[in-house]
Amino acid sequence: MTRAQFLEQARTRGEVWDLVVVGGGATGMGITVDAASRHYSVLLLEQSDFGKGTSSRSTKLIHGGVRYLQQGNVSLVMEALKERGILFRNAPHLVHDLPFVVPNYQWWETPFYGIGLKVYDLLAGKYGFGKSALLSRDEVLARIPTLQQEGLRGGVLYHDGQFDDSRLLISLACTAAERGACLLNYAPVTALHKDAEGIINGVTFFDAESGQKHTAYSRCVINATGAFCDVLHREDEPDGEPMIAPSQGVHIVLDRSFLPGSTAIMVPHTRDGRVMFAIPWHHHVIVGTTDTPIQEVRLEPAPTPGEIDFILETARDYLARRPSRKDILSVFTGIRPLVNTARTSNTAALSREHTIMISKSGLLTIAGGKWTTYRKMAEDCLEHAVVLGRLEERPCLTRELVIHGAMPGATENGPLAVYGSEAPRIQKLALERPELAGPLHPSLPIIGAQVVWAAREEMARTLDDVLARRTRALFLNSRAALEMAPVVVHLLAGELGQNAAWEKQQLEEFARIADSFLVHSNPS
Ligand SMILES: Cc1cc2nc3c(=O)[nH]c(=O)nc-3n(C[C@H](O)[C@H](O)[C@H](O)COP(=O)(O)OP(=O)(O)OC[C@H]3O[C@@H](n4cnc5c(N)ncnc54)[C@H](O)[C@@H]3O)c2cc1C
Repeated sequence: MTRAQFLEQARTRGEVWDLVVVGGGATGMGITVDAASRHYSVLLLEQSDFGKGTSSRSTKLIHGGVRYLQQGNVSLVMEALKERGILFRNAPHLVHDLPFVVPNYQWWETPFYGIGLKVYDLLAGKYGFGKSALLSRDEVLARIPTLQQEGLRGGVLYHDGQFDDSRLLISLACTAAERGACLLNYAPVTALHKDAEGIINGVTFFDAESGQKHTAYSRCVINATGAFCDVLHREDEPDGEPMIAPSQGVHIVLDRSFLPGSTAIMVPHTRDGRVMFAIPWHHHVIVGTTDTPIQEVRLEPAPTPGEIDFILETARDYLARRPSRKDILSVFTGIRPLVNTARTSNTAALSREHTIMISKSGLLTIAGGKWTTYRKMAEDCLEHAVVLGRLEERPCLTRELVIHGAMPGATENGPLAVYGSEAPRIQKLALERPELAGPLHPSLPIIGAQVVWAAREEMARTLDDVLARRTRALFLNSRAALEMAPVVVHLLAGELGQNAAWEKQQLEEFARIADSFLVHSNPS
């Protein structure tokens, strides 16, 4: 994928696109993969980097959602479990089975959660992962020796899927590009074009790197801007009701010693009635999340001190070694694009199902949903877009579509496993240039060859792109990411033909971004 080529293609296209998709998160990228695989001409425009929004900030689960089962939303759970099975098959390098234990401290918890999780197995049907089981206290501790032992009675084991969200997004981008899609990051859409009858027929976008303005005409424009979707919606209908009731979710990242095995902990009912997870991920532990209604949707949301304290307090109830602020290696915050159909102030109660809305002037907005269901969301969206854009009917192919890099047994590639079948090409780069072979920081297994690869093959344009989403350094250990930044930016500048002034500007910008991933011992 080369940005310059895509920009040239978008700039010089004489014909009308079948589809222009605004937003390069899971939703927009999923639609683009679906459209390109059906041979529709499609242009995706992302204002920042692919996955810069919520799609790199999830809990990293491909799951039916045990919480939605608690809420009685059986159809959402069944659909998500089916999608989990499809994704596990089509992207085995990025999605894997993860065992969870619900630790039980009260007598009633084992039968209660045991039955609930049997229903979860049942709903998965032929798409099931491993079966749930009741565990004795000793069996629980054999899996999770660092669990709080006082009062522990036993637990319930169940299985779900885990993934690397921004790596899946990049693999989807490659899949779309291979099928002829045109993808541009750093290309914000600033206006909608309407014809003489007031029907939307295109967009104005900027090339953020050159500042040049361009127009793309299209048979159908899709607003897939997640939590930002009201901005474009209001550009279309200035008096329209807002669709989104945004809420943010925070995760903290701890050292692996807090949860050394390969089993995750699921807490079904925190003190304030939420679900919380402690999950092993890339040799670290992610703990979260919160659900806090917010007023303003920002590209770089930040946690509140109260959210961090709440996660730490809950973790201390379940972990024998009690984590404190100084143990937090990184913290990340994402905004849920919840669709406010219920007009409620309790965002945890809002539906996680997706909504498709078509305005009077033909803007198709899709919002809500989950990463897990991105493929089904895309299929539903295309069904509407084909009618709206008067496109030729063509069958959806994504159920069977193998995602770029897919290969069984990818874990044999160690830290490069997420690249799947591309890993040998990165290893070759490291062999040819030994200075690219060693880790860039003692705390993280990231090598220089990944930086070069990100610039050459994955459209990384900034230091943040490389450290946050092509590699996950910023999410795993924000201080380590800041320490490795000078070496990374120099490698990147070499690949992108940039000078020392650019490197300095990138380092300053990255320090600003990294600040919301750092936790200070004494919050101000
Ligand atoms: C804390 C948290 C945890 C979650 N965990 C899970 C989980 O474990 N599993 C799961 O299945 N789901 C999970 N989800 C849900 C899932 O992450 C989201 O549903 C999904 O990522 C939303 O994707 P999206 O593409 O709609 O939005 P986004 O990823 O936010 O993408 C929208 C994109 O639009 C771009 N954009 C905005 N305006 C413009 C413009 N004018 N021009 C061009 N581009 C623009 C933005 O920059 C952004 O990149 C979680 C969500 C949260 C908040």
